[in-house]
Amino acid sequence: MVFRPLTLALALALSGCAVPAATGPQPSYAAYFSPGGGCTAQIVDAIRAAQRSILVQAYSFTSEPIAQALLEATRRGVEVSIIVDKSQLKERYTVADDLMQQGILVLVDSAHAIAHDKVMVIDGDTVLTGSFNFTRSAEERNAENLLVAKDRALANRYASNWQAHRRHAKPYATVWP
Ligand SMILES: [Zn+2]
Repeated sequence: MVFRPLTLALALALSGCAVPAATGPQPSYAAYFSPGGGCTAQIVDAIRAAQRSILVQAYSFTSEPIAQALLEATRRGVEVSIIVDKSQLKERYTVADDLMQQGILVLVDSAHAIAHDKVMVIDGDTVLTGSFNFTRSAEERNAENLLVAKDRALANRYASNWQAHRRHAKPYATVWP
């Protein structure tokens, strides 16, 4: 019996055979806006869904719910690594202290005027980034944006940049005042 291509595709579909896509899942994107747009909730949800690794770049980092979600991720075996700006060493309050003391790798990047990135790369396939600092002010008082990109190629770009900063960043514990 000779199948025409369309008939074959239909037969495969009807028989439940999946033809694997050569390029993996289709990228998808979502945007969120502060105040009151649920940025923190989106970040916490993404952290809770992490299975293997979370790379973080933070400028100001004072958000308790985000810090708590990262701690919980560590406790279930997710590898969490954080680079913060040097301003965190002088800030009156930062969650970097707690996260370091709880055993998470926290590094300080002092190589720039400011390390202004606000990025999370989750499981090597999802990027969260935007103007949104990991702070309560960013959630409640500021106009901010957060992009959640499920895009492996983009995630690779951000992970490479994270590694480039990691090479000159120093462990928070060694520069902690
Ligand atoms: Zn750097």
